[in-house]
Amino acid sequence: MGAPPHTDRLSDGFFGSFGGRFVSETLMPALEELTSAYERSKSDTEFQAELADLLDHYVGRPTPIYRARRLGEEVDLDVWLKREDLCHTGAHKVNNTIGQVLLAKRLGKSRVIAETGAGQHGVASATACALMGLPCEVYMGAEDVARQAPNVQRMKLLGAQVHAVQSGSRTLKDAMNEALRDWVTNVRTTHYCVGSVAGPHPYPTLVRDFQSVIGREARAQMLTETGQLPAAVVACVGGGSNAMGIFHAFVPDETVRLFGVEAAGDGIDTEQHAAPLTAGTVGVLHGARSYVIQNDDGQIQEAHSISAGLDYPGVGPEHAWLHESGRVAYNAVTDEQALSALHQLCRTEGILAALETSHALAYLPAIRQALGPGQPVLVSLSGRGDKDLQTVLARIGDD
Ligand SMILES: *Cc1c(COP(=O)(O)O)cnc(C)c1O
Repeated sequence: MGAPPHTDRLSDGFFGSFGGRFVSETLMPALEELTSAYERSKSDTEFQAELADLLDHYVGRPTPIYRARRLGEEVDLDVWLKREDLCHTGAHKVNNTIGQVLLAKRLGKSRVIAETGAGQHGVASATACALMGLPCEVYMGAEDVARQAPNVQRMKLLGAQVHAVQSGSRTLKDAMNEALRDWVTNVRTTHYCVGSVAGPHPYPTLVRDFQSVIGREARAQMLTETGQLPAAVVACVGGGSNAMGIFHAFVPDETVRLFGVEAAGDGIDTEQHAAPLTAGTVGVLHGARSYVIQNDDGQIQEAHSISAGLDYPGVGPEHAWLHESGRVAYNAVTDEQALSALHQLCRTEGILAALETSHALAYLPAIRQALGPGQPVLVSLSGRGDKDLQTVLARIGDD
């Protein structure tokens, strides 16, 4: 089956019928300014050299690919892990925040704002801002501030100011609304550092491009180490940035199957999940048209996942398009399946992966079913799991 043509039109920010800019008029000039600065930065050799230098010497790129032989034996596949857990701060998010804060400096912005759910993007933003000497303010739902105390402490140590958002359900979507409100008011001085391939154009494209270093490296590394492309690439999907980052280089490779794994929480037939592509409908959230979890009146529903980083009721618009075109197959695995995959990787390879990442690992048996035995499969190991110890230990206690 040949893949349908996959095009993105950066000019208007649509991926098929998804994406766009569903925001108030006051934000249009800032989005235009960011789009053209971003376009210029692509051919700006000084900018690119500075970014490459920071990725090499500060983040620790290139990250290795690692052949997980013992895990591979258990799942009957030739498993390769792209080790984003070895990036500075322990996950892929820093690839994006370094790029965006560098861009903000280019634009002469004097202040950076961000929103965060679990606190991972807040920490990555605070890190990049400390590095480049810009003040950083992070919006976080009051509920999450209480649940994610260690990350709040990390952000404060890094010099960021954390605003606890008291409106709505006091979680990520309310923090995003509050960050957008701040941006509308302070748009001339402020850069809004978006944490995934979501939000209005140009963010889905810009964040994808900053994360696409993952797939560019991994594709070349697979060719060098195995002499061939993988049969499949798999990644977990929250907003979708680590997945877009690793998929992007492989989208034109028709022989490479791509799998995105969402969080099914307690199960996609319950109300407790975070799987808009698998079990949601088309709607508008945070300035873009995509798949979302909403009720019949179009009200956005709370998402649920054991992994705070997948706990988002929307997904980036390019994923919606890759889903509709059939180029990527999206499915979901439950909290239970992710936990057992986390234990399996610890036991077989001595690697404690993030709960988010463990969703991708939990899908390997399904890939074995689809592809047959022994096939080379590349997994996006998006982050390390030290941050999840409390959650994992609490669950073991429960059982
Ligand atoms: C935040 C996070 C994710 C989910 O975000 P995406 O934008 O979907 O990549 C996945 N893995 C880790 C380790 C994270 O911190």
